[in-house]
Amino acid sequence: MAHVFRVGDVEIRGFSDGLAKTSLDYVMGMSRPDSAALAGGAPDGSLFMPVNNFLFERDGAIVMIDAGTGTASQPTLGKLPDNLRAGGVDPASVTHIVLTHLHSDHANGLVDEAGAAIYPNAELFVHADEHDFWMAPVEESDPAAVKRARARNRINLAPYRERVRRMREGDEILGCAPVLAPGHSPGHTCWRIAAGGESFIAWGDLVHFGEIQISHPDVAVTYDLDPDLARASRLRMLDMIAGEKLAICGAHVSAPGFGYIVRKGRSYAFEPAV
Ligand SMILES: [Zn+2]
Repeated sequence: MAHVFRVGDVEIRGFSDGLAKTSLDYVMGMSRPDSAALAGGAPDGSLFMPVNNFLFERDGAIVMIDAGTGTASQPTLGKLPDNLRAGGVDPASVTHIVLTHLHSDHANGLVDEAGAAIYPNAELFVHADEHDFWMAPVEESDPAAVKRARARNRINLAPYRERVRRMREGDEILGCAPVLAPGHSPGHTCWRIAAGGESFIAWGDLVHFGEIQISHPDVAVTYDLDPDLARASRLRMLDMIAGEKLAICGAHVSAPGFGYIVRKGRSYAFEPAV
């Protein structure tokens, strides 16, 4: 069942794509005993991270935030289409998909294993910087992960080619405005979504390990393309979110990913809303 979180005049539904197996090996800037004390996990450092997606209706449109992982990566992932259907949402009824970035756990679920659109009637909205980085030609000098993701994003976006909208600051679609928060990826975007006098932030991968990086926002992860820039974006966004008391929807914050950020001294804490 989908979890529901109401902010202003918007009812946000949380739909899980499943659990991604990850590892504390990817944590940068914190010792293993400290990260394990905060996040738990197995003795070898492995742990499962939720992959949360969000959906709301507005003006007859059905807006989804991110598209999950698809079926190719791990057996515990790729559950989003089934979970949507179980919640009464036909994937074909989704009209708008707002993407925080184009990494595999957010964009590979746009297509099925044959490369066909899972959301055949959806337009895609992605920051121009993010789109242009991943859709650039693969260079021989690219790191392997960049090569892989560039190749894969061609497949992810192919059936949507005529329906991809490149967004920039100042643009808006159905009350969703991009706030560039780069570092994890070049055009990683937090979406600020108006909700009748209030707003909330769908923050994508501003935080991967919620138990670690909200209280210790200076901690980065090895798969941030630019860890220093990701750290600066996280600090800037957390300060803004806590200051404005904005609700958040976090892709990898403890499921279903709804809550608030409160200041704790010089740091922050997560208060789940559901
Ligand atoms: Zn992610």
